[in-house]
Amino acid sequence: AWRKSEIKKTKTVCTYCGVGCAFDMWTRDRKILKIQPVEEAPVNGISTCIKGKFGWDFVNSDDRLTTPLIREEGRFREASWEEAYRLVANRFNEIKDEHGPDALSFVASSKCTNEESYLMQKLARAVIGTNNIDNCSRYCQSPATKGLWRTMGYGGDGGSISDLEQADLIFFIGSNTAESHPVLATRLKQAQKHRGQKHLVFDLRKHEMAERADEFIRPKPGTDLVWLCAMSKYILDNDLEDKAFLEERVIQLDEYRESLAPFTLEYAESITGIEASKLESLARMIASADKVCGVWAMGVTQHIAGSDTSTAIANLLLVTGNAGRPGTGAYPMRGHNNVQGCSDFGSMPSRLPGYEFVTDDEARKRYEDAWGVKLSTNNGYNNHTMVEAIHDGKIRSMYIMGEEMAVVDSDAHYVQQAFDKLDFMVVQDIFFTRTCEHADVVLPAAPSVEKEGTFVNTERRIQRLYQVLPPKGNSKPDWLIHTELGRYLGAPWDYQSPADIMAEAASLSPMFAGVTYERLEGYKSQQWPIAADGTDTPHLYLNGFAFPDGKARLHPLEYTEPTQQTDEKYDLHVNNGRLLETFHEGNLTHQSAGIRSQVPTKFVEVSPELAKERDIESGRWVQLTSRYGSIRLQALVTDRVTGNELFVTENATRNDHAINILTSYDADKDSDTPTFKEIAVYMERLDTI
Ligand code: SF4
Repeated sequence: AWRKSEIKKTKTVCTYCGVGCAFDMWTRDRKILKIQPVEEAPVNGISTCIKGKFGWDFVNSDDRLTTPLIREEGRFREASWEEAYRLVANRFNEIKDEHGPDALSFVASSKCTNEESYLMQKLARAVIGTNNIDNCSRYCQSPATKGLWRTMGYGGDGGSISDLEQADLIFFIGSNTAESHPVLATRLKQAQKHRGQKHLVFDLRKHEMAERADEFIRPKPGTDLVWLCAMSKYILDNDLEDKAFLEERVIQLDEYRESLAPFTLEYAESITGIEASKLESLARMIASADKVCGVWAMGVTQHIAGSDTSTAIANLLLVTGNAGRPGTGAYPMRGHNNVQGCSDFGSMPSRLPGYEFVTDDEARKRYEDAWGVKLSTNNGYNNHTMVEAIHDGKIRSMYIMGEEMAVVDSDAHYVQQAFDKLDFMVVQDIFFTRTCEHADVVLPAAPSVEKEGTFVNTERRIQRLYQVLPPKGNSKPDWLIHTELGRYLGAPWDYQSPADIMAEAASLSPMFAGVTYERLEGYKSQQWPIAADGTDTPHLYLNGFAFPDGKARLHPLEYTEPTQQTDEKYDLHVNNGRLLETFHEGNLTHQSAGIRSQVPTKFVEVSPELAKERDIESGRWVQLTSRYGSIRLQALVTDRVTGNELFVTENATRNDHAINILTSYDADKDSDTPTFKEIAVYMERLDTI
């Protein structure tokens, strides 16, 4: 029996996707009783999806790491925090003394808070002296950020989710919105149903948004840039552009128009497989709609031309006057709960918090004065290039916070071989992940519900989370681990709480000048950039684009063919992505019994025609072999895919082979984001497993 007074209700923010749902979590002792969304929650109101509602079993899992571990003679043994800190500090100092600060590298986590991202980049920059710090936006939306930096100025969504609701037409490209960003998708499905909002969905796979779309178009894999450029050309050639907008608010039209010369509708048809007449009618729809938004995700970015294709989306929006105005704009969908914030608060190899360049003397001096150190002006290695730098002997040590790099970076064998070459590796996580298997020291961290802090969602909205439970066992919040480790490394750090860290970040970064915990109290939120008086920015660019002259830039483009083309041997293309019930590799969602029972393992979707040709039925085990490795999994025959197109789910239990056994180390030429979506395989039917 228990009393009502034993029950506690605490506001938190979802730990899964970038929509940023907030809700009350009801607990008694360590037991999570229920999730209760409330009307004041700015994004989700009274809604959540299955993950936000039921995906919390991992918090009390017996598999949680609860004490530091040190590798000794090939085996891990338990250690005290003091011993672990001393070892890490000594080894970092030794490696720095012997090889210089750039021999060390740091990976921050998009599941951790803004304050933790800020502190990890400060640890790398101010304490060790390197800009080798990055986060997993390198694996997903860095190309979108690049495309927006080039054209509009800020690397974030142009407006708010409410702007998306107001749009008359949304084109979705490579975004399985209903499964990857469910609550946001629900709001848009309602706009479609009740307001007649038009949805154009461009994708390889007939997912729910495609099924509900007004137009569903299947371009050939990796060819989106071509149809986007062809539409822009058609619009400009036929006087359908927004002339007043281009005249007043945009530059570089002539250079851009010139670069479009090859992109005729006929050329686009030959490359994308979309009929020229269809492209013409879609271009007219986009040009004639009053308010248009573009939504995209990994189906665009995880290609050799991910940045260019993101740029092409921004260009099309600019040509048609659909930016810097309510109900319009560019919306790359952020994946993790805090993938936006992790970059915003400085865990990037070339940018300080608030996206100021490490090479910007004025900005760097501000941090140097405040931190009392001299900072490096070398651009650091990013997540992806760090792996190569390890193989080349340039990086000797890695400190990874909350990132399952052994599974989620591309060409997993190559990544794991790199880890084994390191002189010293520290992994900080809540579970003993596959990345931990390669570590020398493992530090037990606390998940979001066991700490305070803030997250930034996909619409640049900063929200506070409050501590629901104490850290399990001897684990600690990541910000506290950094603070204590910083002291062992000689830093005079005295942060008592995440509020102290945010106050410092706000005092140094103009983008966050007006952020305070008081202004974020309870369900209150602020969208960056935030002026010193607290005024925030629900819609970017209303008074000009983020360039000195206030004008957007049309960026000339060329088409680059996808890598890993199919051929006679590797005759099938593999697409991959999330499911509604699971999150990414599944380290958290697979811990929830309810979710596990829905999706116990991963599978490959096979089209009915291919299944017939290869004599494969649902449930049949098959082996997929790419130029990099092989995985075995069960087939699901479905008309969500067609022809020689396969779809493999991203989630992988401990016993499964992860999709990245199949991927190459190729990357987007402008951002180093791996080409996760460019996989060619052959498929073998297995009689036994
Ligand atoms: Fe969490 Fe995203 Fe689901 Fe909202 S939509 S409950 S943020 S996973």
